[in-house]
Amino acid sequence: MTYPNVQLYIDGQWQDAAGGETLGVLNPASGKEIGRVAHASIADLDRALTAAQKGFETWRELPPIERNKVMRRAATLMRERAADIARLLTQEQGKPLAEAKGEAMAAADIIEWFADEGLRVYGRLVPSRFSLATRQMVVKDPVGPVVAFTPWNFPVNQVVRKLAAALASGCSMIVKAPEETPAAPAELIRAFADAGLPAGVLGLVYGNPAEISNYLIPHPIIRKVTFTGSTPVGKQLAALAGQHMKRVTMELGGHAPVIVCEDADIALAVKAAGAAKFRNAGQVCISPTRFLVHESIKNDFAAAMVKYAQGLTVGDGLQEGTQMGPLANARRVTAMAEFTQDAVRKGATLALGGERVGDAGNFWRPTILTDVPLEARVFNDEPFGPMAAIRGFDRIEEAIAEANRLSFGLAGYAFTQSLKNADLLTRKVEVGMLWVNMPALPTAELPFGGIKDSGYGSEGGPEAMDAYLNVRAVAIANV
Ligand code: NAD
Repeated sequence: MTYPNVQLYIDGQWQDAAGGETLGVLNPASGKEIGRVAHASIADLDRALTAAQKGFETWRELPPIERNKVMRRAATLMRERAADIARLLTQEQGKPLAEAKGEAMAAADIIEWFADEGLRVYGRLVPSRFSLATRQMVVKDPVGPVVAFTPWNFPVNQVVRKLAAALASGCSMIVKAPEETPAAPAELIRAFADAGLPAGVLGLVYGNPAEISNYLIPHPIIRKVTFTGSTPVGKQLAALAGQHMKRVTMELGGHAPVIVCEDADIALAVKAAGAAKFRNAGQVCISPTRFLVHESIKNDFAAAMVKYAQGLTVGDGLQEGTQMGPLANARRVTAMAEFTQDAVRKGATLALGGERVGDAGNFWRPTILTDVPLEARVFNDEPFGPMAAIRGFDRIEEAIAEANRLSFGLAGYAFTQSLKNADLLTRKVEVGMLWVNMPALPTAELPFGGIKDSGYGSEGGPEAMDAYLNVRAVAIANV
């Protein structure tokens, strides 16, 4: 499949922006433009809003089993088309083809899980404390049209987690997908369109993110806002939504601690945390970033991480054998250089990497910093790149205090063979997701989301459906 010019999808029609405006899409492996994406104007947004209202009225009236059938057809199409979608995703985002295909296949699993969960949106009957002749019910219905804002690091996954839960709940949705990686999310929407989703239930727009959020979030048709991206932008959007009393789910940044205890299996820790670290070149909100390693094994762990990272083949994601692609945009290359210089200036040792690979594209060598001082930026701001920062600890309580020092609370990792340590970490580490002795394995059936400044709400498990449902009480007196 050659890289397309990506259109908007409004009211069941693929279309150019009303004003004909477009933006260029770059391949991060070459820095060259590979296509254009339509840039919506306010007139396009108005049409998308009217369609979303109409789509909501149609979709909410369908029996859940009919919604389930459409969603399951879309999941099947995603699986059939995964190889083609992966090629688009790799060209626009950079990740290796195998990771891109995995993302498209996982989307099918997520759609199916939520499609089935949509069959189980039950209310309750609550006995009346006054009279047996009064029937008290708790009923749940869809909140209404939703607007979703999604980022470029997982162009398909970030959309599908939102839309699968929303559609299964009976909501319609306008997706503002990432302008930098527009083709893969458009294919996800196409799978639903081709599966027979009624017009208006899903809309897809691209454009100026601030203009679109400022217009759609306050709009009376929109009843719910869901955003994945950085914490500063999330706070702005949550504040705007608050002014208009819109429900919000926020999946924001993280700075995942990795606590490697003195009794840890070092080989397992390096394999699991190394794979998680360099997946998608570290541009993952749950990427392990602050490695806190017991002093007694710190040097062995760091040496093994360096060896692991040295062994990774960095290159164009389309090439066979590539294990880490380029960074998704030039901003991240600048950020990696700044994080490295800052850490070294403040006393860290650069054990590996810390430089670009070649002149073309956004390639950055896997980077490992050791003995990183707490004041270094990389230990405070989310690096969002292929960079592991390591420092030692003596007592597990110190490691837990460091893990909890930042305002982030998304993911955490720990390696220990002691039940006592595992229990302490479970109780004390302030994160929305903790993985012990294993890599991150987020699946549709588990809650996915953060606490503290990493956001609120969940994008997995039955909890993800709650975000798209109103809960109402109805009492009927049998007179
Ligand atoms: P950014 O903060 O400019 O943008 C982050 C995302 O928010 C992008 O998708 C962007 O389109 C969107 N956005 C920005 N302003 C917006 C607005 N006013 N209304 C609606 N959407 C808006 O940064 P960036 O350079 O694109 O990404 C860098 C940082 O973002 C990373 O360091 C990381 O912290 C964070 N990020 C997090 C995730 C995640 O999965 N949580 C994904 C991508 C980026």
